[in-house]
Amino acid sequence: MIKSLYSKLALTTIGIIIASGLIAFFISNTYYHQVIKSENDEKNTQIALEIAAYATEQQEGLNLQEYLSHVAAIGYQLYIIDEQGETQSFGENFREEEISSEIVSAVMNNEIYHGMKNFPRETFVTGFFANELSNTIGVPLEFNDLTYALFLRPDIKLLFNEMRVLFALLLGLSIFISILLVIFITKFLVKPITTLTAGTRSIADGNLDVNLDIDRNDELGDLAVSFNRMTNKLQQTEQMRNDFMNNVSHDIQSPLSNIKGYTDLLDKNISSQADADQVASQEYLTIIKEETERLSQLTNQLLLFSSLKNQEDILNKDQFNLTGELKKIIRNKQWKLDEKEVMISYSIPDVNVIGDENLLNEVWDNLLSNAIKYNQPGGSIDVSAEEGDSFIIVTFSDTGIGISSEDKKRIFERFYRADSSRTTSIKGSGLGLTIVLMIVELHHGSIEIDSESGKGTSVRVTLPKK
Ligand code: ADP
Repeated sequence: MIKSLYSKLALTTIGIIIASGLIAFFISNTYYHQVIKSENDEKNTQIALEIAAYATEQQEGLNLQEYLSHVAAIGYQLYIIDEQGETQSFGENFREEEISSEIVSAVMNNEIYHGMKNFPRETFVTGFFANELSNTIGVPLEFNDLTYALFLRPDIKLLFNEMRVLFALLLGLSIFISILLVIFITKFLVKPITTLTAGTRSIADGNLDVNLDIDRNDELGDLAVSFNRMTNKLQQTEQMRNDFMNNVSHDIQSPLSNIKGYTDLLDKNISSQADADQVASQEYLTIIKEETERLSQLTNQLLLFSSLKNQEDILNKDQFNLTGELKKIIRNKQWKLDEKEVMISYSIPDVNVIGDENLLNEVWDNLLSNAIKYNQPGGSIDVSAEEGDSFIIVTFSDTGIGISSEDKKRIFERFYRADSSRTTSIKGSGLGLTIVLMIVELHHGSIEIDSESGKGTSVRVTLPKK
């Protein structure tokens, strides 16, 4: 499972909060056992001794029960045992009233019982709160010639009840608020990363027009600034590349048209030559003509590509009859079809489309040229159009050499040609499909390729009607 950076950060921080709470509890508990416990014991021993001393001093004038009840009301839990083993408790009852008879008789023999100091150490329980008779101070109490063992401990519940609620609230609220803050602040921290990821993705998809709106003074801010600088550089390089392509294609075109003109002149000139020379010269001329034709086509493609790349508002939309256009293109390719011995069939209903007629012609021309170029002698091509409610699908199917699944991923890249077409004598620039895709996308359409190596290819262009 892939966890997002956000949930990772949030969970880690929440984990840290909980862990530090637990560690703090252990440390303070240890501190209680090491330091506070014996101080507490000492303080309460003093109090117990004073309570006992006062009762001994007053003797007759004092009702012991009443006196102890008053002391209990101030905030103590008291427990007395007389020589007969009779017990009596004042104030809040002890949860655990177990105490050994040795301890009791030791206390009656003037020994002080330090139950608080010696209360067993437990990691998870703060002894401070243990409401047990063993967790007390025991002192002897002489009263009217009788000896009692008096056990005492502060009534935590009575003394600290409000404090306990307050502390619990403080702790609970601070944990709750920290978790809430972590959830929000982490989102805030991770947001620029999400924006950066979207930016990088967009660049990977070929859209260089990304400017990140991240204004921060930290490392992420630095990263965003570098990222923006990088996209600017990429945009500049892309622009330079397009300009270069544009300029070179323009520069090639004028000498090309000169060559064309002169070969036409030569053609006429050769007709008047002797027969033997004529055949050879004619052959060379045909080659020169074909090559210039290719170069001219290439520069046209380059120019079209860079104008598509540079201008968004290039579309000249109008309504036109798709059927007529497709039939015209098929007619124009007839000699190529005959030359390659490829049969063509078509079923095209009468449909009108809104779009740029010239650019869409470029699409049909390219797709049909490919279907012929990459076909096998004796193969066939089928062109069909289907009309839906809001879209039109034009399909070119051929029985040609097909495209391998690896190549299929890349054939829309500029200048990409499958190895199979490089090694054979089929000529091309690798720009055709790039231009086709650009035009189809400008029309908000899509293009799908279905192909099997050696069997054939089917290209489906879907265009919205409006
Ligand atoms: P090219 O000028 O090389 O035809 P394209 O951009 O039109 O350039 O096509 C890119 C590559 O895709 C071609 O080189 C060829 O390998 C492959 N391809 C395109 N159409 C077909 C098809 N109908 N059948 C087989 N391969 C094709």
